[in-house]
Amino acid sequence: MAVKTLTPMMRQYLEIKEDYKDAFLFFRLGDFYEMFFEDALNASQILEITLTSRDGGQSGKIPMCGVPYHSSAGYIETLVRKGYKVAICEQTEDPALAKGIVRREVIQLITPGTLTEGRTIGEKSNIYIGSAGRTEDGDYALVRIDLSTGEGTATYAGREPKSLVSEAEALQIREIVVPDELYLELHEHAQARSILLSIENEEAARDWEMSVTGSCPARIRPCASRLLRYLERTQKRSLSHLQPIVYREQKSVLSIDPNSRRNLELVQSIRGGGEKGSLFWLLDETVTAMGGRRLKQWIHEPLAGKAAILERTDAVEELIEDFFVRGEVRELLKGVYDIERLAGKVALGSATGRELSQLRRSLSQAHPIRESLEASDGEKLRRLAGMIDPCADVLTILERAITDDPPISNKEGGVIREGYHARLDELRDASKNGKDWIAALEAEERRKTGVKSLKIGYNRVFGYYIEVTKSNVHLVDPERYERKQTLANAERYITPELKEKEAIILNADEEALTLEAELFQAVRDEVKRHIPAIQALADRLSTLDVLTAFAEVSEKYRFVKPVFNEGREMKIIGGRHPVVEKMLDDGTYVPNDCVLDEGSNMLLITGPNMSGKSTYMRQVALTVIMAQIGCFVPADRAELPVTDQIFTRIGAADDLAGGQSTFMVEMMESRLALANATPDSLLLFDEIGRGTSTYDGMALAQAMMEHIHDHIGANTLFSTHYHELTGLSETLGRLKNVHVAAAEQSGRVIFLHKVKDGAADKSYGIQVAELAGLPDNVIRRAEELLGEFEAERPDSETRTEPEGQLSLFDENAGEKGPAKEDADDSGLAVEIEGLDLLRMTPMDAFQWLHGMQERL
Ligand code: ADP
Repeated sequence: MAVKTLTPMMRQYLEIKEDYKDAFLFFRLGDFYEMFFEDALNASQILEITLTSRDGGQSGKIPMCGVPYHSSAGYIETLVRKGYKVAICEQTEDPALAKGIVRREVIQLITPGTLTEGRTIGEKSNIYIGSAGRTEDGDYALVRIDLSTGEGTATYAGREPKSLVSEAEALQIREIVVPDELYLELHEHAQARSILLSIENEEAARDWEMSVTGSCPARIRPCASRLLRYLERTQKRSLSHLQPIVYREQKSVLSIDPNSRRNLELVQSIRGGGEKGSLFWLLDETVTAMGGRRLKQWIHEPLAGKAAILERTDAVEELIEDFFVRGEVRELLKGVYDIERLAGKVALGSATGRELSQLRRSLSQAHPIRESLEASDGEKLRRLAGMIDPCADVLTILERAITDDPPISNKEGGVIREGYHARLDELRDASKNGKDWIAALEAEERRKTGVKSLKIGYNRVFGYYIEVTKSNVHLVDPERYERKQTLANAERYITPELKEKEAIILNADEEALTLEAELFQAVRDEVKRHIPAIQALADRLSTLDVLTAFAEVSEKYRFVKPVFNEGREMKIIGGRHPVVEKMLDDGTYVPNDCVLDEGSNMLLITGPNMSGKSTYMRQVALTVIMAQIGCFVPADRAELPVTDQIFTRIGAADDLAGGQSTFMVEMMESRLALANATPDSLLLFDEIGRGTSTYDGMALAQAMMEHIHDHIGANTLFSTHYHELTGLSETLGRLKNVHVAAAEQSGRVIFLHKVKDGAADKSYGIQVAELAGLPDNVIRRAEELLGEFEAERPDSETRTEPEGQLSLFDENAGEKGPAKEDADDSGLAVEIEGLDLLRMTPMDAFQWLHGMQERL
């Protein structure tokens, strides 16, 4: 298509579109946003709106579709939610003054990471835009900002594209800004997780941004700057609410890899995918949206320093003890709106009068909250009180300027309070007097004409008019009444005095509206100057909200205050899985102890399927996490170390179908754990090796346990259904066998859910299958076969003797004789031991196992 033959407006369109090829261009035409060409074809399908066409001059018809300006928000949100970008192109000069075609410019680019308003934005969730970069050391830097609240954090995120992208996903980042050179290496991984990559190459810092990026390490700053450039470029609005980006040193937080977060169901349940059944769901007794978001952030990044943890736990304790203050604070917090996002709207220039009145109401709660905390006996609470600045200045401005109950939209006025501005009051008076005069006129004209049904009305086209029904028309004075409009059964008239008053009223109204808009803008600008103080208040109130919620749940579910020791010992007495316990809701949850100390810091847990092994392991992890976010913990007593990292290999296998891929996931998670764990970490391995054949599985499980025991020394819980492994406790000094007890009653298994010392004596697999309702004949046959197998098998005791680890391979070794004596095969165990699992890829592991099988 020859551009030359297009109308000037379409040429303007194409010029602008040139700069926004990757976005839908919403081109403002009167009361509509129109889209053309490809955009129109695609958008009409996605949004299910009618595709029409427009005359494109000599080029013929151009596909077009449009959405009304007033209802555009929903359409924009739909597109952005689906991962597209939308460029909003407005007329930027008054059409009346324009020579030729009206100037148009893109005033904002809305992207998945910068969508700050709309139905689908969960008030208890953040919306993050991320920025990734590679530092000189080869690590990825990851910065994220929530544009609606202004919060930002920065971290390092591993060296592999995969680790970066899965970290981004776990942090709920929807869009990552990258420089060209990272685009290709991240593209595929990002796409697989529906994360949009946007390009920004400019990283030159501006003066203003030091306050935002200043606290980041120098190596991360370019990455942060690129994000700010991107936001500047796309938002074209004030970014004055951006708060200093908080750098999270990895050591200061308990790190939990993305898989473990999912497996432990921290903010989402695995099955439903919803919040129900997650730790967040259990703990979320917050009463503000900000508190909800803060709680999620804390769950996401538990602390790893004792002092910082105690700051929280001590405050929770005080709030539990001071029942009165807690109740008062919670009631007051209920009146606090989302001031963090309100502050964001003030900065972005979109806050309405209604929203400023919400800010006012929220700020008015701050002072009483502070007073309430000050009156407490609790030392931490009084300290917190001292940190609450109720932003009295802002409150005063808002109280003086904004009406009690402003309308949702600012369009009709009614936002600025009477008495705030003399001229505005005057104009409103003039308008009101005019309206009163007209009301009086109606009565007077009725009297003069004797027409009781005479009335004065108003419409946009004719202004004020006097309406008389047809049957009474003969009663009006044709000299005074000028006919303006004829309806089916009435005539409408005007009079010179009426028009005179009308002019006064309309002028006053118009001037008042303009003035109100100016005054409102000034108030908003004034509030804007206080944004850092408002954000600081938001921060304190969110924290207070979460601490109060912790106090509530801790009391409700009988959690106890954990004690942190200096060493690595863990002593949880009467521990429970808080979510399972709540779900059971009948007091039948069986509490269990978990004691790990110098002498034995690895537990090998055996027991039938469904007995509670995995629940037990999870409850230990959740207890550690709850303690380190500052909450009390579900136990009678808990003495805990400060854990630096949690790795889990749990659960996912139950949710994935297909042997190999499951096994692969299992091995990759294991590798992550073995490569990164320290003596201060907590490792949970549930049924390691079950994704492969028995001997492979046992071999791997044993090799891993040995490695952890000899080279890592971390607190570890290992569950298995390979009874053969229980013999390992003889050679691994710090490994202890425990089992989840089950009992048999008339051939049926009864789960006791009680963790006891020693190995399980029986696996009850067939009984469990029977419980699951497998057909009788299958069950009987299985029992028969089991009998045969057991008769053939050497006594299991022989395999748990000290050299048990070698006898694992006896059966396979076959004719070659007992492994230990065989020169070739004693090497096998040594070989396993010698495997450098840290450097092995899962493929290497496969190949190694394959080689071993060949040899056997
Ligand atoms: P396993 O890992 O041994 O196969 P799970 O940990 O998945 O077993 O537990 C199976 C079910 O048993 C859980 O869903 C839960 O309902 C119940 N359960 C587990 N532990 C307990 C307990 N301590 N008290 C009561 N019920 C429990």
